[in-house]
Amino acid sequence: QQQEKAALLKAYDFAAKLYHYILGNTEQGKVAKGYLASRGISDKLIDTFQIGYAPAMWDTLVQQLVKREFDLTLMEKGGLISAKHEGTGYVDKFRERIMFPICDATGKVIAFGGRSMGDAQPKYLNSPESTLFNKSRTMYNLHLARPNMRKLQQAVLFEGYVDVIKAWEAGISNGVATMGTALTKEHAALLNRNADQIVVCYDGDNAGQSAAFKSIPILEETGSRVTVAMLPDGKDPDDYVKQYGFDRFVREIIEPAVPSMKYKLLYIRKNFKLHEDGDRLRYLQSAVKLISELHSPMEREHYLKQLASEFPDSSYEAMKLDLHEILLQS
Ligand code: ATP
Ligand code: MN
Ligand code: MN
Ligand code: MN
Repeated sequence: QQQEKAALLKAYDFAAKLYHYILGNTEQGKVAKGYLASRGISDKLIDTFQIGYAPAMWDTLVQQLVKREFDLTLMEKGGLISAKHEGTGYVDKFRERIMFPICDATGKVIAFGGRSMGDAQPKYLNSPESTLFNKSRTMYNLHLARPNMRKLQQAVLFEGYVDVIKAWEAGISNGVATMGTALTKEHAALLNRNADQIVVCYDGDNAGQSAAFKSIPILEETGSRVTVAMLPDGKDPDDYVKQYGFDRFVREIIEPAVPSMKYKLLYIRKNFKLHEDGDRLRYLQSAVKLISELHSPMEREHYLKQLASEFPDSSYEAMKLDLHEILLQS
């Protein structure tokens, strides 16, 4: 088992170097380079993140692995190659994809995220879980971000690999992402071990905003303080940087991140028609319910006052009574 792990690590390291070399130094790599350039990913970023390219051929990696006498059964189990559907032998798992190496906390490659350049589906093909790779414990870019997370006592959590990379170029050196799967307790604990404040910066679409909402209790459960950076409708950090530049991304999106409670109140608000009496009342009740979940009486008071000042028709005293009732019931 330990031996298998070592062999697989060696293979992933080799594959990452091969794909990176192909991207930078071959004819086939040129189109991929062009694609990355069109997305604003410079040569410097390609180097920092060891981005690579898996060519369209069926067996680029298989051939090299054979030449180096890697155990192909193990390589298949580890998710680098696949058994042919017909006949015997193997083909590369990743073909015609931009390759983002995924590293463990010490910087060893343990998986890949492979992005198709065109409309080929799926858009991202990730390595399967293996003895090396456990999705619910792995975070993209943790190895580079960790020292900075510790220094700043802050982490920025993104949805996508490309968001982390673009943010890095904008000077955000403490950014990480999950593997396109939901944030787990393990992720939250991992972040909390390195920083006490987490900025959640997910995509500005419904999926992203709902994921941000759900991530808050998971992160706070471990004791982290959470703020949420909000993107305009339908944009993700990568889109925003592309359209408005690095400085504006930091100044207009990251810096104004709001405390989690403020975000939750804004988030639930979208479900109510606030100009209608009945809906407004229902919103206020839901808002008071959220506020009642805060542990600190001072914080509850703060948000309750804010809510009351926003809705001058509804009395602060009544909201406070509602809040007390909820607290008594729980
Ligand atoms: P890009 O900017 O390259 O289009 P993105 O990073 O904005 O990609 P999203 O579609 O917002 O990608 O998805 C966010 C993350 O979810 C990706 O970085 C990837 O980790 C994961 N993901 C997206 N699509 C898939 C998929 N089809 N299968 C597995 N993971 C995926
Ligand atoms: Mn998305
Ligand atoms: Mn996105
Ligand atoms: Mn994107």
